[in-house]
Amino acid sequence: MVSACLLGMRTRYDGQSKPDPFLCALWPQKFFLPLCPEQLGGLPTPRLPAEIVGGDGLAVWQDQAQVLNRAGKEVTRQFKQGAKEVWRIVRLLGIKKAILKSRSPSCGLTPKLGVTAALLLAQGLVVEEWG
Ligand code: SF4
Repeated sequence: MVSACLLGMRTRYDGQSKPDPFLCALWPQKFFLPLCPEQLGGLPTPRLPAEIVGGDGLAVWQDQAQVLNRAGKEVTRQFKQGAKEVWRIVRLLGIKKAILKSRSPSCGLTPKLGVTAALLLAQGLVVEEWG
């Protein structure tokens, strides 16, 4: 599974993508499944950027942190829902590894663990940060 924006899908909050030339070149030979947790959680594209407040993605699952968009609206429910949908698909297809976009409140591992990244790690998936 690969963060959809890394494979050229226009899934980012600003309606743009973040294609990685290396991954895009590999895509025809490798089975890469592009998924975007924020879209799967029901958020529109484009959308306001969001950030985790009060902790990281793990703290969100422990109900100790929230995800707020730039207008101050809480979108924690959508972020968690999207992460669960990603995990559901990954599990159903027997996917063993996720390549996730860095610096995202959903997909990132750094500078702060994202909501989806935290769930996939907790489920034992091999997770690699990219970009
Ligand atoms: S949530 Fe993940 S896949 Fe979706 S746009 Fe952000 S970094 Fe890319």
